[in-house]
Amino acid sequence: MSAATKRVLLAKPRGYCAGVDRAVVTVEKALAAHGAPVYVRKEIVHNKHVVETLRAKGVIFVDETDEVPEGALVVFSAHGVSPAVHEEAAARNLRTIDATCPLVTKVHFEAKRFAKDDYDILLIGHEGHEEVEGTAGEAPDHVRLVDTAEDAATVEVRDPSKVIWLSQTTLSVDETMERVDQLKQRFPLLQDPPSDDICYATSNRQFAVKTMAPQCDLVLVVGSTNSSNSKRLVEVALQAGARAAHLVDFAHEVDETWLTDVDTVGVTSGASVPDELVMDLLAWLADRGYAGVEEITTANEKITFALPKEVRTKRAPSSS
Ligand code: SF4
Repeated sequence: MSAATKRVLLAKPRGYCAGVDRAVVTVEKALAAHGAPVYVRKEIVHNKHVVETLRAKGVIFVDETDEVPEGALVVFSAHGVSPAVHEEAAARNLRTIDATCPLVTKVHFEAKRFAKDDYDILLIGHEGHEEVEGTAGEAPDHVRLVDTAEDAATVEVRDPSKVIWLSQTTLSVDETMERVDQLKQRFPLLQDPPSDDICYATSNRQFAVKTMAPQCDLVLVVGSTNSSNSKRLVEVALQAGARAAHLVDFAHEVDETWLTDVDTVGVTSGASVPDELVMDLLAWLADRGYAGVEEITTANEKITFALPKEVRTKRAPSSS
């Protein structure tokens, strides 16, 4: 390939969404107001670089609240927690700040509301993902998890006339609708959620990649392997016609052999990825002759979320 034909297409929107930005700023403000250490339950957002940067500033990441010393300050991650986790924190007299993304909280409210009306809730999502555990925990007796096509073929409900589906916020839009179609074959009265559960950031990033991918020999997605929305971007790129697509946390993880016979490289990043990592990748590509960058813009996002009240007002957080 000659330098004249090598180019980069850069998806927009990409990278940080409003929920991730809010969660990261929440932890930074908690550190500034209370000093280190600040405990965070689970990774605040699913990105290696973000987690390592906060760890270096004095954040201690834990898996469960019982690892946090009694009375200490703990932040709940953007993916949300079940009521049981709030109760455990209260029992240990922990001070808490909840950085759950408001769009995840919205799905929690839906789960509670439909459980109260005694619906069976078919929650489409990935087994073991923190967000799914948090949402299911709002109504454990009513939620049935549907992850795979096999789950959709075998899940049972009490009353097929009183059943609704909800979803994890970071799924593939197309695959979720396939799963819903499959469920509707079995349960024709299956109700749709009151509004889309897959969030604006997930669907916007997927749409940008779908638009860009048919022109790309290779798509590089910057993101971590435990980031659901980042992994979906790789799948969407391949389904939309990219010859190859890979997920990398950092530019140095790109295997140079991936560039063999590649004219056009598409670049995007998951919703938990700071743009500096994308800029590093663009510089790495420029060093290898891919200097021209054209941004493919499919949406301009202006959404922001207010910070949790504890860091907004700078008052000490209350006990759970
Ligand atoms: S990906 Fe969507 S649901 Fe998740 S934090 Fe971002 S805006 Fe919120």
